Amino acid sequence: MTYEINETHDINLKSWVESANDPNTDFPIQNLPFCIFYNNEKHEQIHIGVLIGDFVLDLDACYDKDFFDETYKEFLGNKRLWSCLDGLMDFTLEKRFELRKRTQQLLSESFTEKEELENFLHKRADCVFEDNPAVIGDYTDFYASVFHATNVGAMFRPDNPLLPNYKWVPIGYHGRASSIVVSGTEIKRPKGQNRADAEQPPVYIPCKNFDYEMEVGFFVGKGNQMGETIPIENAEEHIFGLCLVNDWSARDIQAWEYQPLGPFLAKNFATTISPFVVTMEALAPFRTNAFVRDEGDPQPLPHLYSEQNQRQGGFDINLEVYLQTKKMREEGEAPFLLSKSNTKDLYWTFAQMLTHHASNGCNLQTGDLMASGTVSGREKNERGCLLELTWRGKEPIELPNGETRRFLEDYDEIIMKGYCEREGFRRIGFGECRGMILPAD
Ligand code: CA
Repeated sequence: MTYEINETHDINLKSWVESANDPNTDFPIQNLPFCIFYNNEKHEQIHIGVLIGDFVLDLDACYDKDFFDETYKEFLGNKRLWSCLDGLMDFTLEKRFELRKRTQQLLSESFTEKEELENFLHKRADCVFEDNPAVIGDYTDFYASVFHATNVGAMFRPDNPLLPNYKWVPIGYHGRASSIVVSGTEIKRPKGQNRADAEQPPVYIPCKNFDYEMEVGFFVGKGNQMGETIPIENAEEHIFGLCLVNDWSARDIQAWEYQPLGPFLAKNFATTISPFVVTMEALAPFRTNAFVRDEGDPQPLPHLYSEQNQRQGGFDINLEVYLQTKKMREEGEAPFLLSKSNTKDLYWTFAQMLTHHASNGCNLQTGDLMASGTVSGREKNERGCLLELTWRGKEPIELPNGETRRFLEDYDEIIMKGYCEREGFRRIGFGECRGMILPAD
């Protein structure tokens, strides 16, 4: 196993940062996700940080004060790398583990020099998190939930919901890296071609069926040379960590443009990610088996199959999507829970997606982002987008204050959350991925 449960996951570990010991925090000492941040109050330089309770520990400052030895010079000591995590993502698994171990030591309640370290702690609320934790050269979006694919297929092709390639190929498309933004960025309603009336020519208007998609993304750590492939057995060595992804989707534009080459302008105007990268190391206790296929389904082809991946290729991550409308915000009403789903219901594992992506010799690069596709489960309340929840707008959602939604309205805010829980381990979380809709021009 590449990422093992070890002493860094011990439930009894506590931090001198008190808020990290709160059982409900997303960021206990067992998590330590990375971010790129600056403190609005204290400095405007971008630094690498790790989340701990309600704070961010400035790793670059810790390095400057010799809390990390020479081993870490390549990434913490290299000012050029301060603007992104790529240097760190490219590190060997051994070095990544050492860094996790040392950071945990610095933050543990038994650490003796905490007075000095307190200077390098920043309140999360005072920090600005950078758009991209990494320089994302390329972004690929998969379609790995069979429940999502079947539901969407049923709306558009009632007789033939799931196309025959689905159970053989992890379906995906190349998205756009330039429009990936960090949680909190406001999203302008896109305009595009709409052909609601099949008797008339299309019109260029603001999107009418604006939707979100609840997804989980993974960052590529080590890349591969062009022409080389990545065996499934080694796939996870190439994955650095995970974040939440909202693949904003313009359904009316999509319906008109998607044939024959798939999504294009319906998707590439904006994608929101959570700013914290939860590492593969931190997720080790929350691994599960790959999706159990129905009898009669084909097994993956040999290059997408390994015993290890079948046994532990899945992730048990709880996902929640909330909506807060303008009216709710003005009246002080809490966001409304739209759905709950879990990555363990994905038909393909992240390792299979990555191996498939490189199986033709395509070169993946450090910092590339790949997303799962909408994570939907079997049940109605596990549907990860409005297209499914409202069945293409036919079954509007009624909110507690009497408002209804088919799709998103201007000034609606979507808030996504993710967390892992398992008996005998500390709960860890991903933070939030949020975005509010602004009117079209
Ligand atoms: Ca998607």
